Amino acid sequence: MKSNFRTVIEPFVIKSVEPIQMTNRNERKQILKENHYNLFKVPAKDVLIDLLTDSGTGAMSSAQWAGMMLGDESYAGSNSFQKFESTIQEIFGFKHVIPTHQGRAAERILFSVMCNNQSVVPNNTHFDTTRANIEFQGSEALDLVIDEGKDPNSLFPFKGNMDIQKLERAIQKHGKEYIPLCMITVTNNSGGGQPVSMENIRAVKTVLKQYDIPLYFDAARFAENAFFIKMREDGYAHKTVKEIVHEMMSYGDGCTMSAKKDGMANIGGFLCTNDDQLAQMEKDLLILTEGFPTYGGLAGRDLEAISVGLQEVLDENYLAYRIAETQYLGEHLTGIGYPIVQPPGGHAIYVDAKALLPHIPPLQYPGQALSAALYLEGGIRTVEIGSVMFGKVDESTGEEYPANMELVRLALPRRTHTQSHIDYVIEVMKELFNEKDKLTGYKIVKQPKYLRHFTAEFESI
Ligand SMILES: *Cc1c(COP(=O)(O)O)cnc(C)c1O
Repeated sequence: MKSNFRTVIEPFVIKSVEPIQMTNRNERKQILKENHYNLFKVPAKDVLIDLLTDSGTGAMSSAQWAGMMLGDESYAGSNSFQKFESTIQEIFGFKHVIPTHQGRAAERILFSVMCNNQSVVPNNTHFDTTRANIEFQGSEALDLVIDEGKDPNSLFPFKGNMDIQKLERAIQKHGKEYIPLCMITVTNNSGGGQPVSMENIRAVKTVLKQYDIPLYFDAARFAENAFFIKMREDGYAHKTVKEIVHEMMSYGDGCTMSAKKDGMANIGGFLCTNDDQLAQMEKDLLILTEGFPTYGGLAGRDLEAISVGLQEVLDENYLAYRIAETQYLGEHLTGIGYPIVQPPGGHAIYVDAKALLPHIPPLQYPGQALSAALYLEGGIRTVEIGSVMFGKVDESTGEEYPANMELVRLALPRRTHTQSHIDYVIEVMKELFNEKDKLTGYKIVKQPKYLRHFTAEFESI
């Protein structure tokens, strides 16, 4: 990973290791067959490089592990909660901090309290659990990302930005009384991990202020977003990431957070708000399903790991390495000829399988074909984000409709792989590129009614 003249080195040494159980192509051929070509069914021990997700799969630091020993497991008012609360108040600047077991629990509580069956909630792009939790309340989830954000080839530096005109039109169309809050997702996960600029956040806030609509951040990758602002936006090069995070959050009224991402932890999340009355209602709801407001479904040691992780994620050497790693993979795949969502985002590279494999029609799942081939050839696990995940089946006719895009995501767990692991992925993908015309599609032979990608069974065509 090069920047200017020198390699961007991993800014850590390895203190504890977990062996990879090696497999060969023949073994993987058998494993794929046994698991009906669905990589969600493949046991993790049979994966060499697991790029399925960056959620909760990162390595914790020695300081986080040491923090775990300090975990205070008191039911009420534990020390670990006080540290968690003050760390988040200091970094994010919000008044009330409510711990939850994951990001989606924070979402469920937030929307239960703020939305009803007539509400409309705009976002740049809702993450799937965010959309599902809004729709579960009978509300409507609007995606208002700028047009550049939908064009895989656009090199616009802030493809996660919200379209301000679309936001104003949505408010006028639906009426401000039906929009209890607006969200911004930093970075925009469902849009390829693309960042949102400070200028755009400010512009969104200016519009919302006129109508008295609160702004909440979906903050899962807040530090990666702040680092992109530092690198790409005028006037921020000399600010610290912590200062940038502070400014971003100062425009918000609260946030939801999955600590499995930029919390650098394996589990956890939180919900923040500046509103005393909402905070009370949220805590009442929290007690019902998550737990007492000083632990919210987490152990005291988890709260410690997150408190330390939130400090570590602001380390600019870490962020420089993180972004360089993603960029390194993206640039090499582009060099080989892979069409990818440009420019590389924060946490993952998305390969455009429809453009790569034009001989496989969308309903023979080109993304699935590429994903299965990456496992067969290299033991690399990725995830299809295309018609397997988002294709729709008309229940009355049985007819199937493809998704808009056929992508394969290579997500990079935090601090988990070395450069040689990434070089190996690049080598496997280079070999595969030369054989790509021989790949064939798949058909689904068994599927459940909902979220079929997790359990569907495939056969090669
Ligand atoms: C992961 C994620 C969530 C949901 O968080 P969980 O911890 O998985 O429940 C919400 N929003 C974004 C942007 C995410 O990436």
